[in-house]
Amino acid sequence: MEQRPNSEKIFKLSKQVIPGGVNSPVRAFKDAEITPLVLRSGKGAEITDVDENTYIDYCCSWGALALGHAHPEITESVIERVKLGSSFGTMTEEERDLATLLCSILPWMEKVRFVSSGTEAVMSAIRLARGYTGRTKIIKFNGNYHGHVDALLVQAGSGVMNLTTSSTSLGVPQAVIESTLSLPYNDVEYCREAIRKTEDLAAVILEPVAGNMGVVPASKEFLQMLREETQKKETLLIIDEVITGFRVSLQGAQGLYGITGDITVLGKIIGGGYPAAAFGGKKEIMDQLAPLGKVYQAGTLSGNPVAMVAGKKAVELLKREGQYEDLQRKTDFLLNEIEEFIKGLEAKICIQRVGSMFTFFFGSSSITGSHDLSKVNKEEYLEFFMYLFENGVYFPPSPFEACFVSLAHTQEQLVKTKNLILQFLSKKYALCLA
Ligand SMILES: *Cc1c(COP(=O)(O)O)cnc(C)c1O
Repeated sequence: MEQRPNSEKIFKLSKQVIPGGVNSPVRAFKDAEITPLVLRSGKGAEITDVDENTYIDYCCSWGALALGHAHPEITESVIERVKLGSSFGTMTEEERDLATLLCSILPWMEKVRFVSSGTEAVMSAIRLARGYTGRTKIIKFNGNYHGHVDALLVQAGSGVMNLTTSSTSLGVPQAVIESTLSLPYNDVEYCREAIRKTEDLAAVILEPVAGNMGVVPASKEFLQMLREETQKKETLLIIDEVITGFRVSLQGAQGLYGITGDITVLGKIIGGGYPAAAFGGKKEIMDQLAPLGKVYQAGTLSGNPVAMVAGKKAVELLKREGQYEDLQRKTDFLLNEIEEFIKGLEAKICIQRVGSMFTFFFGSSSITGSHDLSKVNKEEYLEFFMYLFENGVYFPPSPFEACFVSLAHTQEQLVKTKNLILQFLSKKYALCLA
């Protein structure tokens, strides 16, 4: 086992002044029960911790870094912008530039507003949907994550109309979540009924490829049903593409599946590694926002010019010919052979993936929603995680997160990762070989 004395020391001191030592819970490596990673630097797909250990990174800042760490062109545009001042709280032209770029790539977004995090974007999108429709209720899906917005920290309900909702967090008033219904993901008929029967429904929000319970794609049928039923009720469909936007294709999941929402939520990749997120849609909806309309929404650092130039550079680089084909090629190279190998094992393991996002689920051969997650063998995943971690490959320290391939991953790094995974699987499941 590698030595990480500096990491241990920093973690110990951080715990005295920051709850759990971390500013976002997953960083604590609680499931893995080891000292968390304390990183100092990253270059391409390689990260280095404060003890000089290096790892090949498949978390990529939870999906934000499609081009790898410290991409030279992004870094350079940031430095140039920082020299001119970093925050004004006034209009800057960089906001116009990124907004124009995003709206040209995603034509279902006529206007867009920037904020600083995915959570903030979702929270604002919900307020906008309620303001625009004059209705209150929100439908979400079990196992979908939309940031830590009060109204969306809701678990499963137990029946269509008499849902006994309960929050997944303390501190969320019952009154807030009473307006939220959480339904089983991918259950077409059940959800169709529920949407039809729900009165006062302002919006349905979903992750078109769930990436926060591990990768679980929505079926095309499910997406189609949501589009049809929301249209019939004149309810807004909010597509949360914070993780899938500029990830599963240049036009995200909406481009990939050909089904578009009324409000699109973006984050992660569009900040190029800096804090930026956005929500957008048709003019008629977006113009309800203050100062034009009566839905209030604001932010001191919203549209921050440093984040805007980073995001613009990232999106421009991704927009070049062949980038998504390249990402797919890299991901296929990493996973195809492993998938073949898994087929020959008796063990229940599956890889679920869309584009360059993927998850290894141990203990199950298919996951279609959070109702399947109890089948997942957490211990086996954590053993897998540790094996990779100790050999210099960083996968998420929890079984219910997505892995990401970036454009920066090199052939050599992919070969090393693939071989390690094959080694782990053959050692562990050799006895199960058919
Ligand atoms: C990450 C994520 C969010 C929250 O974004 P933050 O920037 O972490 O607040 C919301 N929705 C989805 C689908 C996400 O993956």
